[in-house]
Amino acid sequence: MAEDKTVCPHCGQKMKKFGVPAESSWGESLWYVCFNDDCQYYVRGWDHMWTTQKVKCSYRHRYDPDQNCCGPMPVYSPEMGKACILEE
Ligand SMILES: [Zn+2]
Repeated sequence: MAEDKTVCPHCGQKMKKFGVPAESSWGESLWYVCFNDDCQYYVRGWDHMWTTQKVKCSYRHRYDPDQNCCGPMPVYSPEMGKACILEE
């Protein structure tokens, strides 16, 4: 059975469709991003980045269906990126 990559492996929640802004450095595309503020990946990211990099940021789990790859999406505030969520 193929695993559902649109479900966050860190918290088990369905990820949101995310329209990458055309002006961003990633170029215009569509991702799935975990916008669960209780997701441990995201929650731990704040501590991790502050402890290791002294940077106030975190990251959310991201799945890029075009490239078929997963990775972190950096965020600098809890609200960052939420305006780009595509509600279904
Ligand atoms: Zn998650």
